Amino acid sequence: MHEKRNDSASSGTVPLEGAEVPTKLEWLHALIERSRDLMAVTDPEGRILFINRAGRSLLGLDAEVEIGDLWLSDFFEADGRSLFSQIIKPTLSQNGLWESDSYMVKPRQGEAIPAALNVALLACEDFRSPCDIIWTIRDHRIRRELSRQIEQRVREHRVVAELARQAQSIRWLDLLRNAVGAVANTLDVELVVVAQPIEGSDKLHLVARHDLVALNMNVINGGAKSQAGYAMVSGQPVITLDIDLETRFDTSGARRCGMTSGMAVPILENGQPHGALSLHSLTRRKFTEDDVIFLEAVASVLSSAQKRIAVERELRHMSLHDPLTGLANRALALDRIQHGLTTLKSKNDNDLMAVLLLDLDNFKSVNDSLGHDNGDRVLVDLVPRLHSAVHDGDTVSRLGGDEFLIACDHIRSPFQAIDLANRLRQSWNEPFLVDERSVFLSGSIGITIARSGSQATELVREADTAMYRAKNTGLGGMEMYEPTMGEASWDRFRVATDLHTAIEQNQLWLAYQPIFELSTGKIASIEALCRWDHPVEGPIAPNVFIKLAEDTGQIGYLGFWVLETACREARIWQKINPEIKLRVNVSALQIKDEAFVGDVKGILQRTGFPARMLGLEVTEGVILKSGDIAGSTITQLRELGVEILIDDYGTGYSSLSYLVRFSEMSALKIDSDFIRLAVEKRYEAIICSIVNLGHTLGMEVVAEGVETQEQLECVRNSGCDYAQGNLLGRPVKVQEIRQQLQI
Ligand code: C2E
Ligand code: MG
Ligand code: MG
Repeated sequence: MHEKRNDSASSGTVPLEGAEVPTKLEWLHALIERSRDLMAVTDPEGRILFINRAGRSLLGLDAEVEIGDLWLSDFFEADGRSLFSQIIKPTLSQNGLWESDSYMVKPRQGEAIPAALNVALLACEDFRSPCDIIWTIRDHRIRRELSRQIEQRVREHRVVAELARQAQSIRWLDLLRNAVGAVANTLDVELVVVAQPIEGSDKLHLVARHDLVALNMNVINGGAKSQAGYAMVSGQPVITLDIDLETRFDTSGARRCGMTSGMAVPILENGQPHGALSLHSLTRRKFTEDDVIFLEAVASVLSSAQKRIAVERELRHMSLHDPLTGLANRALALDRIQHGLTTLKSKNDNDLMAVLLLDLDNFKSVNDSLGHDNGDRVLVDLVPRLHSAVHDGDTVSRLGGDEFLIACDHIRSPFQAIDLANRLRQSWNEPFLVDERSVFLSGSIGITIARSGSQATELVREADTAMYRAKNTGLGGMEMYEPTMGEASWDRFRVATDLHTAIEQNQLWLAYQPIFELSTGKIASIEALCRWDHPVEGPIAPNVFIKLAEDTGQIGYLGFWVLETACREARIWQKINPEIKLRVNVSALQIKDEAFVGDVKGILQRTGFPARMLGLEVTEGVILKSGDIAGSTITQLRELGVEILIDDYGTGYSSLSYLVRFSEMSALKIDSDFIRLAVEKRYEAIICSIVNLGHTLGMEVVAEGVETQEQLECVRNSGCDYAQGNLLGRPVKVQEIRQQLQI
């Protein structure tokens, strides 16, 4: 075998096609025939004896052309024959070799081609004796094409590396935009898009596009109705040479844009196609395997960036959301509130922000009786109900356990916050079904309205304070935050409070504040307001100690003392002006006490104060919350001739529609906070509508807390009947009231 090969190789002949040849000759034959360079053998004069396939093609010689009479030098652009005879041949006879790197070879048809020539004598023992010549001519265009291809690959690698670097840091959409731009530049095409499926539709959304053809569309057809869709559903790269001849998918969209060729690859997500990177060119282009590899590399950068973004988003979501309900957690809620506060400030319009804290009542017993899993299910079921109560843009968040926070930054008045709370309360109108058992829930809501300079954490604390207060007034309650709630350190007093002793030691006393009739400017009634001068703590605000009295079960005793003292002291001014009425505040718990009517009767009898001159002020919530007992107490008091007034209207449960229920009330006192806010924000119209409604229902309307001339003008213009406030007369001791009346 070895011998044979040596023999054949040294025979000096070139194998002919079809001949039975040893293996080594087959190799040589293949090498020569498959070479991209021209390879030829000529006789000593340059007449062609053999030329390979690449040579025929370079010189434009068809297979049929006989080469017997052809001189290779005739194919040189300049005077080839004299080059051969004067330069090549003498050099060959000296060195056996002649080379030139820049010569022009002219094929039979067409332009001259830059080429490199390598010429050698076939047998080299004796250069002088004539012998055959072997020629190798390399078409420089091939080299150029090769180096162009290499440069292109390098460019593509750079693009992919740069996109991969960007994928670590920049925003997803920016990455997509850069990717389509880079693909368009690198492959020199007119249209590149990233298409992603639109959920619930068979269309694709063009999430990024680079178009030099003014595509003007963001949505294209999916599936077999577009190149991108086809790449996506097939999960394979697609190359289209001529879209007019394409049959695998609909090309009408691309045709409308004047496109000719195209290519697309799927973008994979966890191995599944979840989009496509698709491009088109206006001119006919033969996209190659290498182009596909480049496009796939870009698609894979995009898909790994997408994965990273999804993981990051997931982590971020987890750090800002409650895992059970998916709601925003405390951190995100605080952030949104703070953001809302900043926006409100910069908008400078009349919008307010309300923060509501909702705590479920006795939720522990749900967990204890049904198990924590079922407790969790109730919490999850509550979420859509809460969402249906709020408006778009409101934030519903879970602070933990059974506490939810609702922030709303586009309300126009505190009424709307209260309406929102009422809607939230409807969330538990229907029972929750757990294991075919009905679970009844209720919640207590604290509300606060942002003031200028409010901070998110402070608002949450205020709503929390109000919520605790709501809890204390009974289940399912709601309270609006009042600044005084947070001021006193509650617990300090809670234990030590002994109002019995306070009363015995004369630490309590009543202040009296006049209420003026606006039409005459005269005092029409006087409200008794309880005061506590604590020997150690100093004066304690009634909002604080009344609450304490309610919490510690002493309100009955305190209320009794207040009513009796007020009726007795009022007798003093009765003598001066018998038409001036007395107003006394009563707590919800007093109204709920069945003995209350008897107590009032007894006090009236003992003090001799006429029932028709007494008015009891109750906060509106009392009437709504307390049900039958309160209803019948109020009816019996009315029968005695005692008037009932709704106090602090506008801060509690009120909504205009609720007023209709208060038919037995003789007057409505609009809360001072509400008056202040209404005047500040120019909501006179709201005051007018409350006054009108009150009048329609046969009630007189009193404005509380009038502090400025502007407020006085406003309440007067709104048609209020009475006004009370520091501008007109502060709460004073009984002797002072008496002096004022005598003037
Ligand atoms: P209220 O019944 O709405 O009383 C009016 C409150 O507004 C009083 O606060 C009064 O001092 C205050 N006020 C009057 N004019 C102005 C003004 O121009 N500007 C401002 N900012 N405030 C003004 P006070 O005395 O601190 O009482 C607070 C609340 O405590 C009362 O609100 C009432 O709900 C309750 N309260 C007071 N005394 C009693 C009582 O004897 N029994 C019960 N159950 N509650 C009482
Ligand atoms: Mg009052
Ligand atoms: Mg009031």
